[in-house]
Amino acid sequence: MTEIPQAKLNNGITMPQLGLGVFAIPDGKEVREAIKIAFNEGYRSIDTATVYGNEKGVGQAIEESNIPREEIFLTTKVWNNDQGYDATLKAFQQSMDRLGVDYVDLYLIHWPVKGKYNDTWKALEKLYHDGRVRSIGVSNFKVHHLEALFKTAKVAPAVNQIELHPYLVQKELRDFCAQHDIKIEAWSPLGRGAVLGDPTLIQLGQKYGKSAAQVTLRWHIQYGIITIPKSSRAERIKENISIFDFDLEQGDMDIIDGLNRNHRIGPDPDNFSFSL
Ligand code: NDP
Repeated sequence: MTEIPQAKLNNGITMPQLGLGVFAIPDGKEVREAIKIAFNEGYRSIDTATVYGNEKGVGQAIEESNIPREEIFLTTKVWNNDQGYDATLKAFQQSMDRLGVDYVDLYLIHWPVKGKYNDTWKALEKLYHDGRVRSIGVSNFKVHHLEALFKTAKVAPAVNQIELHPYLVQKELRDFCAQHDIKIEAWSPLGRGAVLGDPTLIQLGQKYGKSAAQVTLRWHIQYGIITIPKSSRAERIKENISIFDFDLEQGDMDIIDGLNRNHRIGPDPDNFSFSL
């Protein structure tokens, strides 16, 4: 089975550098089946969120797998309309009930809701101190959101999960997070499929005997980025983990960096409007 490299977070715990994202995989049979395939291929990290509506199926898949809980790295996130201190604590308990687990490995603030995220963070710190979560982090935080968080935070975020792929390389934010020992985790690492038709990535794939998706994911791994491609198809789940048997040359890493066009698939964290 494939051995996945581990990222060391700033509180000493380790997290697989590759995981399965389950956004938009329907709850129930679909998500259970995708996770079952992923576990069989060697994935041990699952990224879900309250808003994905599939925490129940994720929890069932973990239980059905018979893999010891401590070998699995489970991430979920507090949704925007649950932010604030008390609401977050309540939302966390509801997530735990749906997941049917005793703890999560990483709990994230899903988006930086203005006027709320400092209080939300206090709730995450409490959950961390109470041992309900092994690590806490943020998602979709820009430099200025992190700077505002640092003013009141007592625990530094372990992770910032952000949109990141060859068309949005996020150099400045990556450098800032590296300086503050916050690991970067890439969402939409394949640009939700948008980068896969890129002729340069296809050509690099031919050079290494790999697909454009594999070259893209390998690029994340070689930069130390944690990456969570989503697929519910067996052949792609397998393809996306088959990236630990080759190395991109530095010149090819640079070529992929050069594809950047600051193009977002998702909303800009300064301008998101969904509260749901
Ligand atoms: P991805 O970049 O992972 O792309 C997923 C899309 O690419 C799907 O349509 C999938 O189709 C397709 N795909 C996957 N692998 C391959 C392959 N090898 N070849 C061709 N096509 C492929 O996008 P996501 O937006 O899903 O991001 C990944 C994860 O990040 C999410 O599932 C979620 O966990 C997280 N996320 C977090 C956000 C946040 O705000 N924090 C926002 C968005 C995502 P198919 O399933 O049919 O194979």
